[in-house]
Amino acid sequence: MTRIISPKQVRDAAEIIRKGGVVAFPTETVYGLGASALNPDAAKKIFKAKGRPSDNPLIVHIAGREQLKKVARIPKNKLAIVNKLIRKFWPGPLTLILPRKEIVPLEVTGGLGTVAVRMPKSRIALRLIRMAGVPIAAPSANISGKPSGTCFEHVYDDFNGKIDGIIKSRPCKIGVESTVLDLTSNVPFILRPGGVTYEQLRKVLPGIKIYTHKRKVKVVKSPGMKYKHYSPKAKVLLFEDGEMRRIAEYKKRLERKGKRVVVISPKNSVAFSRKLFAMFRECDKKKIEYILMPAIEEKGIGLAIMNRIRKAASRILR
Ligand code: AMP
Ligand code: MG
Repeated sequence: MTRIISPKQVRDAAEIIRKGGVVAFPTETVYGLGASALNPDAAKKIFKAKGRPSDNPLIVHIAGREQLKKVARIPKNKLAIVNKLIRKFWPGPLTLILPRKEIVPLEVTGGLGTVAVRMPKSRIALRLIRMAGVPIAAPSANISGKPSGTCFEHVYDDFNGKIDGIIKSRPCKIGVESTVLDLTSNVPFILRPGGVTYEQLRKVLPGIKIYTHKRKVKVVKSPGMKYKHYSPKAKVLLFEDGEMRRIAEYKKRLERKGKRVVVISPKNSVAFSRKLFAMFRECDKKKIEYILMPAIEEKGIGLAIMNRIRKAASRILR
């Protein structure tokens, strides 16, 4: 049975996590599917519930600096950078990749020698981690491949009966996941754009680099990058030129064939990122077959929005 837990009962959720159970909880980015980051069997339950490939590592969520030292090794030559980033962006939607300490089981890191760490801003998430007394490993709360869960109903639809509890709170504020920043290579690399923008990071780290869809990547550093993601049941068609007339004609053609079609026009704003995954799930409920979307400029939060749409897209029309 999956217990619905109110924010006032966070202590109960913490107790479940301490005992090796799995609880979904809200963060400012998306809902997370959490278990003790120090317990390999608990971590395995997350992979099983999601249907997530075991080589796709989890993000370790912490509530204080002392927990960072517990799970990650900070190389001397990276200390200044890490301090700067933490001061500026934590708590918040920035995940740092650092060398892993052995206390973190390989089940959590997908067998990697590195660990992903983040201090979320959500008060409920922070309270949960503090009360659990252990860092919490959590990927996004969605069945693998589906759009991330950004409100209680999404998580309930995907996991009722499969996990121990869900903390029921308001929809997530940002709606797309954290920015994943790799600090283990010579140059800091953004592996996944997210809630903290490239522009914000560049101000702190002028030399920062980023993987974009235009860059062919030979070695996949972030295992999550090779899997299909965020996909609604409908086919998402992305129109690279953003030409609305072309999209309208395409829509008409599909409708003449009896297809159920919607057009979703992304906006470069957090107001839009907040509802992107919810719109995808809404389309599933309405049995939409095609979602047509114009591309937007990949600046600010637009970069993370476009990254998610590209991964959700079954076709990109140039
Ligand atoms: P999710 O929590 O579902 O958004 O997934 C976490 C993301 O962080 C995935 O894209 C992972 O591949 C990535 N990630 C987690 N740990 C590491 C790591 N040690 N090195 C590189 N990427 C990681
Ligand atoms: Mg995910």
